[in-house]
Amino acid sequence: MIILIDQDGVLADFEHAFLAAWRERHPGIAPVAYEDRKSFNLLEDYPPELRGKAEAIYTAPGFIRGLPPVPGAIEAFKELLALGMDLRICTAPLRQYENCVAEKFQWVERHLGRAATERIVMTRDKTLVRGDILIDDKPGIEGAVAQPSWRHIVYDAPYNRHIADRPRMVWADWRNVLAGQLYAADA
Ligand SMILES: [Mg+2]
Repeated sequence: MIILIDQDGVLADFEHAFLAAWRERHPGIAPVAYEDRKSFNLLEDYPPELRGKAEAIYTAPGFIRGLPPVPGAIEAFKELLALGMDLRICTAPLRQYENCVAEKFQWVERHLGRAATERIVMTRDKTLVRGDILIDDKPGIEGAVAQPSWRHIVYDAPYNRHIADRPRMVWADWRNVLAGQLYAADA
C-alpha cells in the first residue's frame, strides 16, 4: 500500500512555529490564533497590511528546516514503515521555493534519516501522484487529474473542519482511522 503523507501541517508543525516566530518578531501585534485559522492559505487570514510580515516569516532562511515535528508524527511514520507500508512524503513547495525546497529535504533528513529523503515527492500537483491514501491537511486538493488514485484522509486543522465527506485523523488516532484501509489492502 502506498501512503502519501503531506509534510507541512502533517509531519512538520508549520502553524505553531509560525505563531512562535511571529510573537518573537512582532510582540506588539497579535497573530491569528491557531483555533481561529479559517483559510488553508495563511495569508488570507491576515489583513493586507500584515501579509508582508507573515510571508517574511515563513520564507526566511531556516524557518522550514527548523519546524518542530507534529506530535506523534515521527513515531507513526516509523511504525507505518515497520508495518511494510510504502510511505512517500508528498509535499508542495512554496511558490517562493528558494529556501523551502532544500530545507524540506534537510527537515526530512534531520527527523527521519537521510534514506527517507528518497521518499520525497515534491510537486505542486498531488493529483498526478499515484497512491492509495493521501494524508493531507489541505481541504480541497485539485489538479490536472480529476479523479486521483488516492483517497484523501484529512489531517485535522481548524481551517479544514468544514470538510465532512472524508475521513479525518490526527496522529494520536492514526491506527483507528487507517485500520480499515490497511486490512482491506491485506485481504
Ligand atoms: Mg500541508
